[in-house]
Amino acid sequence: MSRASRSAATVAPAPADVRVGVLALQGDFAEHIAVLRSLGVDAVEVRTLDQLRAVDGLIIPGGESTTIARLLIAFDLLDPLRDLIEGGLPVWGTCAGAILLAKHVPSLDRPPLAVMDITVERNAFGRQVDSFEADLKVAGIDGAPVHAVFIRAPIIERAGRGVTVLATLKDGTIVAAREGRLLATSFHPELTDDRRIHGLFLQMVAEARRAPAPPRRPR
Ligand code: GLN
Repeated sequence: MSRASRSAATVAPAPADVRVGVLALQGDFAEHIAVLRSLGVDAVEVRTLDQLRAVDGLIIPGGESTTIARLLIAFDLLDPLRDLIEGGLPVWGTCAGAILLAKHVPSLDRPPLAVMDITVERNAFGRQVDSFEADLKVAGIDGAPVHAVFIRAPIIERAGRGVTVLATLKDGTIVAAREGRLLATSFHPELTDDRRIHGLFLQMVAEARRAPAPPRRPR
């Protein structure tokens, strides 16, 4: 069986009525939209507060975290998005998106959203030429390993007490983690034919819709 058919078999059907936004200020948002639509999800590009308020979950794509951080401020989305996340909005950050979720990013020149208790090191594997691929066992994902693409990727140097580590490289480096309704991956599932991490996030979005909002966390 090919990787594509194997992974397709293990992705639960998309919840019919969830709308998932992809932050579309910079980076590879179009690839996430295409994957979500291929799974039958109502997927929308998000650039305005009205669009942000209309989604049940949000993906922050890979790209350049310094640029996305600047644009979040320029589009007046940084504080409203942080408020929505603290009110329970499920968010998945891939690569640059994971950097923006982190509470601690020593090498970012603009404030990140700072909502997830992780410390992230940007460009931890070096330059663009040091990009690589690896097969990962991801907690909660059954079947074959997830083939992960790392492009000038960050690593999760430290995961706080409330954070569950979902995947590590062979040397123990953390590359995927979850804290409540927040998911962070150092790699780019939208660039492969494996839909299972998108499936995991869709489950998180569907669960959040069924459950009441969690208590707001102090900043
Ligand atoms: N190196 C980028 C940054 O630090 C992230 C790369 C990516 O998203 N693929 O923002």
